[in-house]
Amino acid sequence: MSIPFLGEECFATAGTWASIPATMKPLIHLEGKVALVTGGSRGIGEAIARAYGLAGAEVAIASRKKQGVDEAAERLRKEGITVEPYACHAGKPAELDALVESVIKRFGRIDVLVNNAATNPHFGPMMTADEPAFDKTFEVNVKGYLHLARRVAGHLVDRGAPGSLVFVSSVVGLAAAPLQGIYGMTKAAVISMTRTLALELGPSRIRVNAIAPGLIETKFSQALVNNEDISRRILDRTPLGRVGQPDEIASAALYLASDAASFVTGHTLVVDGGMTIA
Ligand code: NAP
Repeated sequence: MSIPFLGEECFATAGTWASIPATMKPLIHLEGKVALVTGGSRGIGEAIARAYGLAGAEVAIASRKKQGVDEAAERLRKEGITVEPYACHAGKPAELDALVESVIKRFGRIDVLVNNAATNPHFGPMMTADEPAFDKTFEVNVKGYLHLARRVAGHLVDRGAPGSLVFVSSVVGLAAAPLQGIYGMTKAAVISMTRTLALELGPSRIRVNAIAPGLIETKFSQALVNNEDISRRILDRTPLGRVGQPDEIASAALYLASDAASFVTGHTLVVDGGMTIA
């Protein structure tokens, strides 16, 4: 029996997700779950929010700019997804605390966290990065991820509920990448954070996994995609020979959050068209 990738196929054949007997439901769904996705106003975060929503989750999305996150919520609602937008800076602990409180107030709980919002203010050699750029990159990409993970994991432990934390890292956390050294250090830290939190939270039935995307077509990667020299060099060593799309990261995030990955924790799933195998 083939397992439908998203709930959509079931909607098409059986009318509504709720009408499908529990025994027939595929493992890859998030029905009854509440998910919080940071950086959810566009790119990979919006694609993850969409995949989670179509798979049955109620979704909270957050990003700095209220207008951007409101517009994303509108797009998702038009697709039948239950979603609430929040303005929140991922590098500011007080705003992250307020975010968690607001989401719990609105939906009653959080079952799945996707730490996805990240920044890369210094595109250049590590030798030339100034301290403010260094601090900002670590504040958002490392301290912000850990702060939010701790808040959501604490909430899950208090409830005695199982949960799933998914951290968006990068292939540059696994291998050296020119001009992205500071950012790469933060993404390597995310992989380390994933493993240690998985170790610490496993006994509480909280799974923690990361995704390491290769080059994905978003606003964030525009400088790389539009730089012919860099993108040619990346594509030359990518067996699939193309840039990836946000949906291709969303499907990995859906798998990791769902019961299909019930015995997977501490793992970093590389989704890069094969770029890092050679
Ligand atoms: P994107 O399209 O630029 O989206 C970034 C999202 O994060 C937006 O919603 C943005 O909204 C939000 N954001 C940025 N800084 C924030 C902050 N300080 N606080 C809260 N929200 C913030 O980027 P993307 O490519 O989807 O990137 C998502 C994740 O994938 C990042 O972790 C990135 O490192 C990782 N990644 C991307 C690629 C790639 O090739 N695209 C490859 C590897 C890894 P606001 O501007 O409103 O805040």
